[in-house]
Formats: sequence, C-alpha cells, structure tokens
Amino acid sequence: VSLTATLDELIRDVPDYPSPGILFKDITPLLADHDAFTATVQALAEVGRDSAGTTVVDKVLGMEARGFILAAPVALALGAGFVPVRKAGKLPRETHAVSYALEYGEATLELHRDAVAPGERVLLVDDVLATGGTIAATRELVEKCGGTVAGVAVLMELAALPGREAVGALPVTALLTV
Ligand code: IMP
Repeated sequence: VSLTATLDELIRDVPDYPSPGILFKDITPLLADHDAFTATVQALAEVGRDSAGTTVVDKVLGMEARGFILAAPVALALGAGFVPVRKAGKLPRETHAVSYALEYGEATLELHRDAVAPGERVLLVDDVLATGGTIAATRELVEKCGGTVAGVAVLMELAALPGREAVGALPVTALLTV
C-alpha cells in the first residue's frame, strides 16, 4: 500500500469543525497507527536531507500545536535540534513575534530569539498548509533570528487555497494534496 493511500485512509474529514462550513482534517487516526506514523515521519524527514542522504538542516521547527507532534520525531530522525514555534505569550524568555491576518481577526506566533542562530538552516514542519499564513509568519521569525528556511514539509496541502503562493519562493513538499 502506498503512503498516499494510507494517509488518505487515516486522515479523516470532519465537517463543520471547528465552525460551520469548515471541513477539518483530523490526523489522530494516523498518529495512532505505528506503521503509518513511522512512514510519515520518514517521508517528512527526507525533505531535510540531500540526495546523498546527508542532513542539511540544523534545526527543525514545529508550529503549535499539531506541528509539534510531527516536527519532534523528524528532528530526531535527522539528528537535528527541535524548536517550537508558539502562540503569543507561551514562551518564557525573549522572543521575536510576527502577527498575521486570519479570516476573522489576527494571530501572533513567537520564537525564542536564541532558538535559531545566525546562519543556521531550518526545516519547517506542520500538518496542514492552508492559506500559508502560518508558514509565511514562521519564515519571518526565522529570518529575524538571522536563519534561513531551507525547506518546508507538510503532511497535507489544501489545493483549493493559495498556500504555496503565500509562502513565496520557499520549496514546499506535501505528502498529500487534497
Ligand atoms: P494556514 O496558516 O492557513 O496555512 O493554516 C495552517 C494551520 O492551520 C496549520 O498550523 C494547521 O494545523 C491548521 N489547519 C488549517 N486547516 C486545518 C485542518 O483542516 N485540519 C487541521 N489543521 C488545520
């Protein structure tokens, strides 16, 4: 069975969650399946390696909250550090902060100022690429630290939304396009 077919089966559509008209992609059945979760982490980690199999990133960044679940094992697989990107007010030390527009209102993401060192290359990992706002804001945070986003790995890309355009010239790898 291909990874695509497995992901398709184990990511469930939940209509009208968290609000009417939203079709939510629930990844918890995938996380609960050891073989599928292992294959997913391996496929995401490939994005942080060159063609010879050498890790080319220093840090793997995961975005709160489902990004944490995927990014931490990817960081271990790559032999790289894991860094959480958090919602406003959750990180205890000095941060950089970037706010971006949501459909209704605004969100702010934060990164510890010393979490990415100048010159470091990072891989961004999240579950879903929708409008691209989360990835674009995280890229700004990395660049405020003096780092570079070397790649973006997501489980799933929602093709109906202009996520790729929103993240600009960044290379994005999606394991599944829906
Ligand atoms: P974006 O910023 O619009 O690209 O949205 C991506 C963020 O929203 C990611 O951090 C996702 O976790 C979350 N997200 C958006 N749509 C869904 C969904 O259908 N299922 C799970 N998470 C979603």
